[in-house]
Amino acid sequence: MRLILLGPPGAGKGTQAQRLVEKHGIVQLSTGDMLRAAVAAGTPVGLKAKEIMARGELVPDEVVIAIIADRIDQADAKRGFVLDGFPRTVPQARALDDLLAERGLKLDAVIELKVDEGILLKRIETRVNEMTARGQAVRADDNAEALKKRLDAYRAQTAPLVDYYAGTGQLKTVDGMAVIDSVTEAIDGLLAPWAGSSARRPRAPRRAQRARAPKAKTGRSRAAKGRAKKASGKTRKSAGKGRKAARPAARKGARTGAKRGRSNGRGGTRKTRAKRLTRAR
Ligand code: AMP
Repeated sequence: MRLILLGPPGAGKGTQAQRLVEKHGIVQLSTGDMLRAAVAAGTPVGLKAKEIMARGELVPDEVVIAIIADRIDQADAKRGFVLDGFPRTVPQARALDDLLAERGLKLDAVIELKVDEGILLKRIETRVNEMTARGQAVRADDNAEALKKRLDAYRAQTAPLVDYYAGTGQLKTVDGMAVIDSVTEAIDGLLAPWAGSSARRPRAPRRAQRARAPKAKTGRSRAAKGRAKKASGKTRKSAGKGRKAARPAARKGARTGAKRGRSNGRGGTRKTRAKRLTRAR
């Protein structure tokens, strides 16, 4: 499953992304977290991004696109991912389309967390208080001034992605003003068809292969032989019961060359053996 969580700072993308990770066994790809790690490690990307981030502005597209291109190729992202904070501009969205197309991958959904801007400052204040209480370092951009800039950047550069993904038919919107659990429920509801189909998709071919295996490879007669062996101590009725599930596949198998070939190899069908016996008499 490959998802994007879209929404302004403080909309709850990080919290919901973590829940999606737990539920679907996918990875959370947060460009903000990756950039903060780069800043903390003092890498060239971190040095470039540090001041921009502290001001609440967006890091250049090519920097975050390169980070994401590298990250989605890593082994843990193969099972799927939820993008949190990326894309943030239309050029980033286009670059993501290209990155996925080059790899033969597709997005399952883009989920917009819709919130009133008025609540965002309050939420960020709450986050700062919680982090301080836990003794965690507060983000350099979690202050009123930087938040204003981040909201401006969201309105000007990120909000157009709502139309972009509405245009591709991938956009789903949930009420991000609801309590956290209700938002999670709404997202789960939206993803139910995807979760169901992606869970069924890998199983279906395996089941089909198993059903086809006797006729295509081992031939029905071997399967029949095994069943006959098993059924030898049983009554006809109970043996018949056991055959029931395999019957449709076995019948189809009876029409394949595999069955005819094997029968001839062992001295012909019942009909031809009967003919030979009649002639011998
Ligand atoms: P976040 O943790 O998602 O709120 O991101 C924190 C900061 O990292 C943002 O305010 C930007 O400065 C930078 N950033 C994160 N993701 C992106 C992105 N996709 N494009 C540009 N800048 C980003």
